[in-house]
Amino acid sequence: MKHSSDICIVGAGISGLTCASHLLDSPACRGLSLRVFDMQQEAGGRIRSKTLDGKAAIELGAGRFSPQLHPHFQSAMQHYRQKSEVYPFTQLKFKSHAQQKLKRTMSDLFPRLKEHGKESFLQFVSRFQGKDRAVGMIRSMGYDALFLPDISAEMAYDIVGKHPEIQSVTDNDANQWFSAETGFDGLIQGIKAKVKAGGARFSLGYRLLSVAADGDGYRLQFAGDDGWKLEHRARHLVLAIPPSAMAGLDVGFPEAWSGARYGSLPLFKGFLTYDEPWWLDYKLDDQVLIVDNPLRKIYFKGDKYLFFYTDSEMANHWRGALAEGEEHYLAQIRAHLADALGIAAERIPQPRSHLHKYWTHGVEFCRDSDIAHPPALSHRDNGIIACSDAYTEHCGWMEGGLLSAREASRLLLQRLS
Ligand SMILES: Cc1cc2nc3c(=O)[nH]c(=O)nc-3n(C[C@H](O)[C@H](O)[C@H](O)COP(=O)(O)OP(=O)(O)OC[C@H]3O[C@@H](n4cnc5c(N)ncnc54)[C@H](O)[C@@H]3O)c2cc1C
Repeated sequence: MKHSSDICIVGAGISGLTCASHLLDSPACRGLSLRVFDMQQEAGGRIRSKTLDGKAAIELGAGRFSPQLHPHFQSAMQHYRQKSEVYPFTQLKFKSHAQQKLKRTMSDLFPRLKEHGKESFLQFVSRFQGKDRAVGMIRSMGYDALFLPDISAEMAYDIVGKHPEIQSVTDNDANQWFSAETGFDGLIQGIKAKVKAGGARFSLGYRLLSVAADGDGYRLQFAGDDGWKLEHRARHLVLAIPPSAMAGLDVGFPEAWSGARYGSLPLFKGFLTYDEPWWLDYKLDDQVLIVDNPLRKIYFKGDKYLFFYTDSEMANHWRGALAEGEEHYLAQIRAHLADALGIAAERIPQPRSHLHKYWTHGVEFCRDSDIAHPPALSHRDNGIIACSDAYTEHCGWMEGGLLSAREASRLLLQRLS
């Protein structure tokens, strides 16, 4: 089957949808056809809201934002009349010995960044605290990505200050955090409806396989869920897919785009509901614990549910636990919960229901912190445009997707005019 469009956007996550929305707002696009493709049957990408037990809205992907750090995202929530609620997990309950000393140590080491800030965070802290204490300190922050050799001390300070659970060990502790009352999918559906009303057409369930420059446009090959092959011709092309997906296409990524190197990290979230909110007995409602066991960060959401959130090696750990069967997975969670609370596993009831999601490329980022990186990329020879949160200073955040989409639409509008 063959068809064509004036503008084709591949990727219906928040970046692709926002890019489409900006383009349709411009008089330069009046009368042009726009088509959005995505390999998933649903728009949203790494924003995936679900309901647990048919009641509580949960986020298997992106889950919170801060108006101070993410002003464009907050505007989008307001524009699409999405209700926010306070995200309560901004203070640690039951601080371990290492956690009690975190703020002081971070502040004592801060002046040393000037001289040693480019070292890996582990090297940097080890230099002043010794390896064992450095490992204990970094582990007590709950984000294992902070151990990566690519994460410099400068980057680590920035990351810590921009994550709600641990921001209080930096000067960012006044940042407020919110989630979406009924899930961020409401925002996705709002943008999608606007883009549809603007005349764009959606082809969901089609994976882009290859792209070739063809005269004054591009020829794209897609495969449908059912193996159905589709050829599409587009005059202009925006790839709103993250770097890991770009690398799987024949578009010379990243050499012909920015020359920077990119990386990604796996993430895992597991949610559980119970007949009774047993954690209320421990006064844990709306509290977060960071623990030195594979659950890493445990969140108790009111009297509704609990969830845990892990990255890097521990995300892979939970994927492995699931591979051994659901019973094994749930038994492990129970044992680690008991360990975290210092109680017998028998005191933790069996869950009523649970949901989980492993993201192979949960966070995508640029590995070259020194490179002056544009927020959207353009292929140096054939003019294809690419956008992703990974190209911005807000990599790993929806805010980055919005900023990159704005730049991608600006680049395309410049060409059209
Ligand atoms: C577990 C988790 C927690 C997170 N927490 C937060 C948070 O609390 N706050 C926050 O702001 N951000 C958070 N993020 C990050 C946030 O989800 C992303 O920054 C944002 O969703 C990225 O949007 P995007 O449109 O750039 O990319 P994506 O959402 O990845 O969208 C890309 C789309 O492209 C499609 N695609 C890829 N390859 C192809 C192909 N070959 N053909 C066709 N389609 C293709 C994909 O199906 C996808 O729909 C989190 C992410 C994860 C995974």
